[in-house]
Amino acid sequence: MDIEREILETDLAIVGAGPAGLALAYKLAKLIEADDTVEMPEILFIEKGSHVGAHSLSGAVMDPRGLEELFGDYKELGAPLESPVTSEAMYWLRENASTKFPYEPPALSNHGNYIVSLNKLSAWMGEQVESCGLDIYAGLAGYDLVIEEGRITGVQTVDMGLDKEGEPKSNFEPGSIIKAKLTILCEGVHGSLTKKAFEKIPMLRKDSLPQVYLTGVKEVWEVPEGQIKAGQVIHTLGWPQPNNEYGGGWIYGMSDTMVSVGYAVGLNSPDPANDPHLKFQRYKTHPLLRKILEGGTMQNYGAKTIPDGGYYSMPRLYHDGLMLCGDSGGFLDPSRLKGIHLAIKSGIMAAETIMECLKADDFSANSLKKYQDRFENSWAKDELYKSRNFHASFKKGLFSGLIHAAIQTFTGGKGLFERRVNIEDHSYMLKKSEYRQQFGNDPSVKELKFDNNYTFDKLSDVYKSGTAHDEEQPSHLVISDLDICNNRCTEEYGNPCQHFCPAQVYEMVEDSDQNGTLKLQLTPSNCVHCKTCDIADPYQVIRWVTPQGGEGPNYENL
Ligand code: SF4
Repeated sequence: MDIEREILETDLAIVGAGPAGLALAYKLAKLIEADDTVEMPEILFIEKGSHVGAHSLSGAVMDPRGLEELFGDYKELGAPLESPVTSEAMYWLRENASTKFPYEPPALSNHGNYIVSLNKLSAWMGEQVESCGLDIYAGLAGYDLVIEEGRITGVQTVDMGLDKEGEPKSNFEPGSIIKAKLTILCEGVHGSLTKKAFEKIPMLRKDSLPQVYLTGVKEVWEVPEGQIKAGQVIHTLGWPQPNNEYGGGWIYGMSDTMVSVGYAVGLNSPDPANDPHLKFQRYKTHPLLRKILEGGTMQNYGAKTIPDGGYYSMPRLYHDGLMLCGDSGGFLDPSRLKGIHLAIKSGIMAAETIMECLKADDFSANSLKKYQDRFENSWAKDELYKSRNFHASFKKGLFSGLIHAAIQTFTGGKGLFERRVNIEDHSYMLKKSEYRQQFGNDPSVKELKFDNNYTFDKLSDVYKSGTAHDEEQPSHLVISDLDICNNRCTEEYGNPCQHFCPAQVYEMVEDSDQNGTLKLQLTPSNCVHCKTCDIADPYQVIRWVTPQGGEGPNYENL
């Protein structure tokens, strides 16, 4: 279908109103306010969520360093902080037992940090940006990158009003082309435009290792007083994650009656039945968790992937007409499980560089390289460099990982040697027959009877994420070869998508046309935009693209 698209010319296109994009816009506005030699450029700042913060989700215990550098007295300005951290503990869990670590590993020390809800923090940062006179166009999703002669020249927004077959309905509105001197991708983890940039411009990842991901699944609970304390932080290792796989859990007291509980599971798992949602539900049945959640009610649910590779997995952060910030640039410290302060710092460094580019009217790679140089000389680089070997240390399991991580603490992050793992997460998954051969049993589908009181099935949880999509639109989960799903994958892996998706988008159902054999059925309207499927699919035939703008989760308290 030939579509005539409106062309919107602008100076800067910012994609994604999370902490990185918001920090960039705020810092740039303040720098320009203080420098009368530079005029405010035209900025088109787009966000796919229905409002700023709707798609923001994190644990989260935040290091305030980024916020302080950006806003100065952020408390005075009213930043929404749930509670300062008041106590912390770490446990190793077995199925019905737990052992408290005698001390908190230095990287996980949270003295001076704050428990926050990232979606509330993003919404507040959005207000600060708008108070500088900048507009944020929420509900407008970037669908494609515009690349001309090797240079990024903008973004095409998503078409609205197509039916399931991709035919225009009466309310059809074609996406526009935003033509920009500079496009800044702050899409969050595994963004679809960032993925496109990596595919089309291989030099962005030429010198970096593959990104490594976890899927984090989280609920916020209201509980009776006396079961959690505001500011109480508990991290756990071990059960229900087997000791040969990466992951762990958290319990954060947002107040004396609100608690954030979550579990993060490595996607570099050999298990084709790896199910982060199920592991999280089992996690909550542990006595340590039960005693905190007893008599409470679950209020909110969400899931997202976490870029956990650290320094060696970061891409080059710039190209002609392009910058990558926040999770799009891999700004997350795996040893501290923290990225908000680094995302904010990346936005600050990007804004400082853009000021120089505006003065020179030059957005070439040569000019934008100063962003990379700034990073290499920043505290963010120092922090990320110290944890460069952290995730890879757990390649041989939990106990060897803990020993290596401890040695890294005393050797500036090096440990016994540099660890460079050049394997993509999905390549770790074993076929059913390989799994049986290696572990002596079938892939571990664990049964759990959801009681819809403490443990919830995926659909009940999705309901608590506020997720909504128009069902009459093309699927935003694009499968390039359904035959692989319905035949080869069933035989070889047992359709892992039905396990790893935390929102029950993928189901194998009886095909009445084919004598009851199984076929894949998609329910894209359940999708919470976590990106797990795009990462973990062993054949890499699933591609997540943006649905209509303003759709997806509507997170609260998360
Ligand atoms: Fe996550 Fe993919 Fe499931 Fe959507 S369909 S919730 S992106 S795994």
